[in-house]
Amino acid sequence: MRFDVISLFPEFVAQLAAHGVVGRAGERGLLSIHGWNPRDHAEGNYRRVDDRPFGGGPGMVMLIEPLRAAIRAIRAAAPDVPTKVVYLSPQGRRLDQRKVRELAGEARLILLCGRYEGVDERLLQAEVDEEISIGDYVLSGGELAAAVLIDAVARLQDGALNDAESALQDSFEGDGLLDCPHYTRPVEHELGPVPEVLLSGNHAQIARWRRQQSLGRTWLRRPDLLDESMLSKADRVLLDE
Ligand code: SAM
Repeated sequence: MRFDVISLFPEFVAQLAAHGVVGRAGERGLLSIHGWNPRDHAEGNYRRVDDRPFGGGPGMVMLIEPLRAAIRAIRAAAPDVPTKVVYLSPQGRRLDQRKVRELAGEARLILLCGRYEGVDERLLQAEVDEEISIGDYVLSGGELAAAVLIDAVARLQDGALNDAESALQDSFEGDGLLDCPHYTRPVEHELGPVPEVLLSGNHAQIARWRRQQSLGRTWLRRPDLLDESMLSKADRVLLDE
């Protein structure tokens, strides 16, 4: 999968490729991240990328042309790869794991990062397929949002995680519950013991305990995720215990 990030600070997002799961996925040839600076596609001595908003008011607005030229250059760099253009925006659809899974199936994402007051609306209307938000708060730029999206999508690429099973057990996966709690050595610690069932070697009991913990946590922390219709009879018993 290929990510082309349009940003006034492309090195910011490129950093992602140097670390952790995203870095490893890059080394394994599962993805690549390319930064594109609209300033490189701007005209004139000052290579201007923004201007004042019509109608007055504070702040600046990103110009159409440098962004359009950057998008054209990206398409030209790999013309045969199907492409989705995403604008990171607080006004977009809120990113969730279902959306992440959907995006993980794309061959290439062009991620447009805004700055200032945002981008001239005409560019968005003409070039952007989808606007995505990472939450109901306002960042000063789209780079962190692009980094969040890339990280979440990258770890779902086949072969990115050492154990593909682990992604399936994460929160929001499968039937959408929160993950169960995890413990590791030592067994005894001044902060408390490891739940005995996890040391029992009884896989059926362990699976039951984990399911119960997932249900309980989801019930307490994120009841909005619990769709009653998806609970089995056994789940209802676990929740009642
Ligand atoms: N005036 C815009 C508004 O209120 O909708 C906010 C502009 S914001 C200061 C600058 C840029 O940060 C945006 O163009 C967008 O790319 C990015 N951004 C800010 N908040 C975001 C969020 N919650 N999710 C994704 N991108 C965000």
